[in-house]
Order: sequence, then C-alpha cells, then structure tokens
Amino acid sequence: MHERGASVRELIAENEALRRQLSSLIDQAESNHAIMMRHQAFDLELVGAGSFRELVETIFRQLPIVSSLDIVTLSLVDTGADIYTVMHKLGMDFETLPGLLFCEYPDALGYDLAGGATPKPALSLYNPALHNMAFPQPPAGLASVALVPLLRNKRLLGSLNLGSRDPSRFTPILGTDFVEHMGSIIAICLENVISNEMLKYIGLTDALTGVYNRRYMDRRLGEEIARARRQAYRLSCMYIDVDHFKQVNDTWGHQSGDDVLREVAARIKAELRISDALGRFGGEEFVVVLIDADLDNASLVAQRIRASVADQPFVVGEGQMLSVSVSIGVATLDDFERDHPIEGVAQQLVAQADQALYAAKVNGRNRVVAYG
Ligand code: GH3
Ligand code: MG
Ligand code: MG
Repeated sequence: MHERGASVRELIAENEALRRQLSSLIDQAESNHAIMMRHQAFDLELVGAGSFRELVETIFRQLPIVSSLDIVTLSLVDTGADIYTVMHKLGMDFETLPGLLFCEYPDALGYDLAGGATPKPALSLYNPALHNMAFPQPPAGLASVALVPLLRNKRLLGSLNLGSRDPSRFTPILGTDFVEHMGSIIAICLENVISNEMLKYIGLTDALTGVYNRRYMDRRLGEEIARARRQAYRLSCMYIDVDHFKQVNDTWGHQSGDDVLREVAARIKAELRISDALGRFGGEEFVVVLIDADLDNASLVAQRIRASVADQPFVVGEGQMLSVSVSIGVATLDDFERDHPIEGVAQQLVAQADQALYAAKVNGRNRVVAYG
C-alpha cells in the first residue's frame, strides 16, 4: 500500500514534468511559428518592392523588427559609381538612408576572396577596427555582428550587415543557414530592382550626354505646364543649338564632336537650378524647361549659358583647343487658360523658343533672342 502510494506519486511527478516539457515545446513551436510568419511576410514584402528605394527602405525599416536587431546596414559594390549616379538622377535622396553604404570594389567588404573563394557569412563579436566599414555609425553597446555576403551567380553585389547588443546573438559556432537564406533573397531582389531602375534610366536619358532625352522632356513639359497652371507661376523654355556644329565634326572628327556635345551639356547644366530640366532633343540641340522663371529671368540664364560656352575654349581629342558657341531662343508660357489642352500649349511653347532660336541664328549666332 505504502509502496504503491510512492509509485503513484512518482508517476504524477513524471507526468507533470512531461506536461511542463510539452508545454515549453509548444511555446517554443508557437514562437518559432510566429518568427517564421514574420519572416515570410518580410520576404514577401522584399519580393514585392517596386523600386530600389522601396526595397532598401523595407530592409532598414522591417529587418530590425523582424529579426530583433539593433542595427542593419547595407553595403553595395558600385564600381564607377553607376548605381549611385543613376539612383541620384532618378531623384533618390541618400541623406535619408544613412545605412546605405557604397564601395568601389568587392575587396573593401572584408570577405575572404582569396583565390576566387565564395565568401561566407561572418558571425563574430563586434570589433570596431574590423567592422568600421560595415558600421560607420555603430549604436552604443553593439556587441556582435553578422556580415552576410549578397551573391548572385557568384558575383558579390554587396553585404548585408546585421548588429546586436547581445554578444551571444552572432557567434562563429552558430549555423548560418538562416542568414544565408535572407542574404540570397535580398540579393535577388536587389539585382532585380537595380536592373529595373537602370532600364528606367536608359529609357529617360540620352546615352551620349547623360541629360534627359526628348521623350522624357515631352512628358516633363506637360507635367510642368499643369503644375505651373495650378500654382500660377511662370514657366519658360529655351531652345539651344550649337553654332556651325557640322564644321566641328568636319574639322575635328565625329569623336571630338561628341566630346563637344558632352561638354556643352555640362556647361548648360552648371547654369541651371535643380528644379530645371535639361534634355537633348536630337543632334546638337538642347531644350531647357525653367520653372518659376519669366522671360527676363530665362533670358538672363540663357545669357549665362551662352557666355559659359563661348568664353572658355573646349579641349578635345589630344588636347586641341577649339572655340564653340551656341545660339539660344527663349519663350515663356503666358497662357494660364485652363481650357487649352496641355499638349498643344507645350508644342506651342517649344515652337516659339525654336522660332526665337532661328532669329538668333539669322542675326549672327552666339546670341540669345527672346520670343515676342
Ligand atoms: P548652325 O549654326 O546653323 O546650327 O549650323 P550647324 O552646322 O550646327 O547645323 P546643322 O544642323 O546643319 O548640323 C548639325 C550637325 O550635327 C550635323 C550632324 O552631323 C551633327 N550631329 C548630329 N548628331 C550628332 C552626334 O550625336 N554626334 C556628333 N558628333 N555629331 C552629330
Ligand atoms: Mg541644329
Ligand atoms: Mg547647329
């Protein structure tokens, strides 16, 4: 009787221990499930990002929450600063993304690339001397870090850098499956949005000079006219044509002609405000849309452009110097009647600037003529 009582108590105790174990396993499973669901939602959001900006913002906003991290940065290999330049031209403001870092070459990311080795995630204690590239502004108390290579077809696109104040969060003995999975999803998404943005950029710009192309300018002009009407400010347009450009080609060669076009575009651009838009309309002709500028303002800017081209000789080919000049026609939008269709108004504005340009040519070139 006594003995039986003891074994029943043992059974009950064992049963309770088992229940506790089971309940802790269930808790663990539920918590893992919740983490997985958060990660799945995060993965979906990454895959759904429609632009470079959206992708990068999603990573910086969500990853610290989803993975309980104290800092996340993203280093991108950007040889020749192509990515940076294109994103900048597409209007991206990098100052709002301090965690986005660029480096010129893959070696700068700190992975072992010797002998063409495939880089592996590096989990370790935080070491300021070693990790200052990945974390230029580390949060106080940063204790352990994971540097996750972003690879596409063995090409190192960059590095996803994760940091925690918990020293045991990332240690070399930990498995890396999880961060590798995250790295591969982010690498695919990155490659995808970057090539989409590049395509967008190519569709909007002129390959020779890097300024906008005619298709973009036509669309932009329509948008600007609509805005100028709404906000009742002046909008002006310049038509710029290089003088005797055929002679430049004939004398110095087509290559030098191309150099001149690039330099003319750069000199025009240097005289404009960021809100103005410069496009190459074809050949050696450029159009500028000036926001919040009346005919006098626009003519002054045009004079500055004319002078900046004519006053300094151009250096082409093997250091030959040549003089270049431009003629400029200026017109302003004085039509705020809402019932005129925008497309017609846009065409008329450009046509007026072109007519003024023609007058500048007839009157001797290297000059500015205002329409009217
Ligand atoms: P004007 O002062 O009357 O404007 O004389 P122009 O010689 O500049 O006029 P025209 O329009 O006859 O010449 C334009 C030349 O621009 C002809 C063409 O060969 C050249 N051209 C057009 N596109 C390009 C280009 O992409 N690169 C180079 N190098 N030349 C180009
Ligand atoms: Mg021309
Ligand atoms: Mg010309």
